Amino acid sequence: MLPEKVDLNEASLLWNLKIRYDKELIYTYTGSILVAVNPYKMFDIYGTDQVKLYEGRILGTLPPHLFAVGSSAYSQVCAANNSSNNQVVVISGESGSGKTESTKLVMQYLAAVNRAPSNLVTEQILEAAPLLESFGNAKTPRNDNSSRFGKYLEVFFRDGVIVGGKVTQYLLEKSRIVTQANGERNYHVFYELLSGLDQQLRDKYGLLDPDKYFYLNQGGNCKIEGKNDTQDFKALLSAMQVLGFTSEEQDTIFKILSSVLHLGNVYFHRKNLRHGQDAVDIGSDAEIRWAAHLLQINADGIIRALTTKTTEARNERLLTTLNIDQALDARDAFAKALYSSLFSWLVARVNHIVYKGTKQTAAISILDIFGFENFVENSFEQLCINYANENLHFYFNKHIFKLEQQEYAKEKIDWTTITYTDNLPIIHLIAKKPVGILHLLDDESNFPKASDLSFLEKCHYNHALSELYSRPRMNSAEFAIKHYAGQVWYNVDGFLDKNRDTLRPDVVELLISSKIPICYDETQNTYCIGPFPRQPTATFRIHVTVSKLLIKNPAQLFGINLIFQNFPRCNPWFVRCIKPNNEKAPMKYDMPCVLEQLRYTGMLETIRIRKTGYPVRLPFAHFVDRYHYLVPATCLPRGAPSKELCRIILEKAASAEDQCQYQLGLSRVFLRESLERTLEYNRALI
Ligand code: ATP
Ligand code: MG
Repeated sequence: MLPEKVDLNEASLLWNLKIRYDKELIYTYTGSILVAVNPYKMFDIYGTDQVKLYEGRILGTLPPHLFAVGSSAYSQVCAANNSSNNQVVVISGESGSGKTESTKLVMQYLAAVNRAPSNLVTEQILEAAPLLESFGNAKTPRNDNSSRFGKYLEVFFRDGVIVGGKVTQYLLEKSRIVTQANGERNYHVFYELLSGLDQQLRDKYGLLDPDKYFYLNQGGNCKIEGKNDTQDFKALLSAMQVLGFTSEEQDTIFKILSSVLHLGNVYFHRKNLRHGQDAVDIGSDAEIRWAAHLLQINADGIIRALTTKTTEARNERLLTTLNIDQALDARDAFAKALYSSLFSWLVARVNHIVYKGTKQTAAISILDIFGFENFVENSFEQLCINYANENLHFYFNKHIFKLEQQEYAKEKIDWTTITYTDNLPIIHLIAKKPVGILHLLDDESNFPKASDLSFLEKCHYNHALSELYSRPRMNSAEFAIKHYAGQVWYNVDGFLDKNRDTLRPDVVELLISSKIPICYDETQNTYCIGPFPRQPTATFRIHVTVSKLLIKNPAQLFGINLIFQNFPRCNPWFVRCIKPNNEKAPMKYDMPCVLEQLRYTGMLETIRIRKTGYPVRLPFAHFVDRYHYLVPATCLPRGAPSKELCRIILEKAASAEDQCQYQLGLSRVFLRESLERTLEYNRALI
């Protein structure tokens, strides 16, 4: 049954997708945009036969498929003789809609179709995906394999051959390392490690079962139905092998992971000092000794950093004791720093292998970020994730509606403007200087006396009148933003600390004192690439990344914008992923759930502009050059301006009903995709 208040066009789109989905056709085009409805079930449609089928075929000549997008992007790259033909596949959709799976499928297609499919670097780029998923994905209520970081994968080509790649990661969710809500898990790698490691190695790292670790069992269930952690651990080891990780590096990675788990089990007893000052004792020192042993740090040093604080005043170092909350925070901060440094290092390590620096002719990039989220409780992480998605939506709108219509106006094309919901006001509310919510947060983070509540007050004061912003009815510590995909309430608890994201100097010193080498070959300066600052080789250890965290970086929130700033030099291909139901159920098409997504993504307007717009545009001379064969040479007067020649070719080569399928602008000819297909078809017959 159709949900209420659905207009005719919406209904036909909704039904069309449903009918196709019921026939197991999960892909549909709206113009050149590919809509993918998640089947939650693997179909046999990604084999080599399909790769071959789509190879070299332009979009629209075969049934809709992700491979058709891959093939079109790849054809452009092969035709490229300079980097201006860079392509970007922009994959969007809410959490669980299928972005990461689509990313992998596009990459698989490129790997299979490129002119040297079995070269090592291609295999290494493919293997980077499961490696990064182990460390950067986790179970959430929306998705059992949810990306908790943004990924921008660039694949470099030279003469149609993959010659290298590069991964950029954004905003790994750090809070997950130490807390998970009910039904969630920590990052997959921990469970995989505990399930896949043999007894001898478990003893070496002092490891027990996952339910014994506070950092792993808060969600109430350490298993995911349908996921085999032991097998995935094997896959992780094999990925590491393909990527050339040495056994020393592997050992270091396992030591860091194990230390994080040991630290999570450190607990404290409250004790009262004289003058009523709070202090704590470590509950048991077994975990501390394990962490100290694995990280090669002095155990007393760890105890000191977790129970006391050094402050400097008038050139004097003052030692004060921590209360129990501060001690727990110190412990969690230490664990988060360890894990997030490891993650940054892994990405740099992967890049070191796959980024060859070889001269390339063009690139295909694939953007796969964390999808829009609206949980029962939303915090700073959700604000970052949703802000990134607002940017993605803005980029989509800009390309599909704004630039397109600007171009029509400039070229004086006969055109009735199509309106769409511009989300720029939401982006301004969140990030515009000086009072955008993130700027208020940064200001407050720099102000020692500020608190989460004083930040909230400033938000209310500056934005209460905005219709995109809401204050809570009760006196709760929340605010709401009306995002393009719906209203989300954010609880400000912990916002300031999460934004500051700094480590106490005591903890940094502790990390610096670690003797474990995370650098493979220090003498060669091997990993001083990518996001790492170039450091004197001898001191290049884990603390390089940790001290990087210390750099107060208000721009980190806006870092996600950098990707979009790079895009203008790329030709975009859009894939819109749709989640068919909220239960992760295979082949279940829930109308209200799909309709909501079609509405907020502006799919109807997109269809309208794709149907009535002219997405293909060619300079007159170029058009004449390509299609003059379609009419007898005698029809084309010598020396006539190319615009005139264009008109003649189109009047003669396009059928009567196709005469509305093009327009001549001031400098270019504009065509609908269907007419271009007909012209191409006729051209191929000659
Ligand atoms: P998030 O924003 O949370 O990272 P996502 O959009 O990346 O979400 P995916 O992890 O790609 O979502 O997909 C969620 C699940 O849906 C997958 O684990 C898989 O079970 C299923 N799925 C997605 N795409 C496909 C597909 N093409 N074929 C079969 N199953 C799929
Ligand atoms: Mg994902």
